[in-house]
Amino acid sequence: MRERMEIIEGDITQQKVDAIVNAANEALIAGGGVSGAIHRTAGLGLEEECLKLGGCEEGQAKITKGYYLPAKWVIHTVGPVWEGGTYEEHKILAQCYRNCFAFVEPYNIKTIAFPSISTGAYGFPIEKAAKIAISEARLFLEQNTTLDKVIFVCYGKQDYECYTAIFEQLLTPY
Ligand code: ADP
Repeated sequence: MRERMEIIEGDITQQKVDAIVNAANEALIAGGGVSGAIHRTAGLGLEEECLKLGGCEEGQAKITKGYYLPAKWVIHTVGPVWEGGTYEEHKILAQCYRNCFAFVEPYNIKTIAFPSISTGAYGFPIEKAAKIAISEARLFLEQNTTLDKVIFVCYGKQDYECYTAIFEQLLTPY
């Protein structure tokens, strides 16, 4: 299963995969951060399709086409805003990953790339978030045989090093 997970440092908008995940907001409007970058690269078609979706709740996910992105699909999920761990943010973040993976089989997605959901403007501590991301990917891969690769695209060296350390911690056998 290790070989079906990859951690890279890079820009998610450049990933040639079947689906990229967007760390969206509840209104599904472009905004800043990774969402702004995805909308800028995808073009106005993405914004128009998003507007028709009627928003998205925290922990949920919705799918659109990728337009001018190299990725065929964009899965928009709304991560929790970190409030010190007071309202079960970790459960909502896990739900985000699960709801994204729920599109894999119906949309025949073989490769999927995630940004680090909630760890930018939404303030979720990256170590905790990385544990959730990698654990959820492992859980999904254990029961799915069709998905070839889950790629965690880290924006910057620090995030990359954090994800890599957590990956080793969680996936190295004793
Ligand atoms: P959130 O509101 O869910 O915290 P952000 O977009 O603010 O979402 O940040 C989520 C993560 O995405 C952060 O780690 C940020 O550094 C990262 N990020 C920003 N731009 C990109 C990009 N082009 N590709 C991949 N990750 C990105």
